[in-house]
Amino acid sequence: MNVIRTTPPRPLDVAAVFPQLAPLARTATRLHPRPGSPSPYDSSVGGPLLWPANQPWLYCDKWHEGPVSPLLPVAQLYARDAPLLRPPGRTDLLQVLWCPFEHPPEYKPPIALFWRTAADVTNVLAAPPKPSEVQYGYMPEPCVLAPEQVTEYPNFLELGKELQQQLSDWSAWQAAGVTVDDSYEVAPQEFYMDELSVAPGWKVGGWTPWGLTDPVARFCVACGAAMSPLLTIASDEWDASNKGWVPYEDQALAVLDDARVSNPPGVQVSDANHLQLYVCPKCYTHTDLIQ
Ligand SMILES: [Zn+2]
Ligand SMILES: [Zn+2]
Repeated sequence: MNVIRTTPPRPLDVAAVFPQLAPLARTATRLHPRPGSPSPYDSSVGGPLLWPANQPWLYCDKWHEGPVSPLLPVAQLYARDAPLLRPPGRTDLLQVLWCPFEHPPEYKPPIALFWRTAADVTNVLAAPPKPSEVQYGYMPEPCVLAPEQVTEYPNFLELGKELQQQLSDWSAWQAAGVTVDDSYEVAPQEFYMDELSVAPGWKVGGWTPWGLTDPVARFCVACGAAMSPLLTIASDEWDASNKGWVPYEDQALAVLDDARVSNPPGVQVSDANHLQLYVCPKCYTHTDLIQ
């Protein structure tokens, strides 16, 4: 059964109102993880990986508070479901695993990333080792995905001063003749942040959901190239502040309670923040940052 999730159109075309935003548009693939029973042949969050039977499983070899632990599957993405992945060479599958414990000094889980060619995996490991203990928030519930492309613009803090001033100026919005809820009159940039810029939840590509720290560019340690957002691991799909991004198919659920936070995978990274993975577009090294 195919799961489908459809993000409602944005309340207005913000790049038409503020043309300097137009060149900053990026496509993101919202993954829309929902509880299910994915197989190794499906893209998933918290599902079984297409892992070769003859490849040893990975264990965390660094210090963490807890027993030595096998790594845990976090996500598996086939390129057919997430065209923005741009996998290297002939690979067509990205696998993301983590140690289910936060590690000092940054108190985030170490991440392992694999690019594979699915057709090369003929014998799939049937029963990978499971951790005997997992830190709260680090065991994703098995979810199937409903990938959907959306357009994003940068977080307000990533914009130049001039654009920030325009977006903060209620009269600029009024002059464009667009209808914006009066509650945003004092700080119209919050309308941009909530409804027009960065989609909430798990996604591939797009713009980073900055929040915990000010934006900082990431550069590849190997070649110096600017790194791109690869995968956003989110601690919720939406909350009361960004309900305009709730897919049509979930809206009946979302209006039950105004304060409802939706988080089907049940993942809570580093105090309910985001774990943003970055990749170098040239040599495919990766890094991550808590956001
Ligand atoms: Zn560990
Ligand atoms: Zn590089």
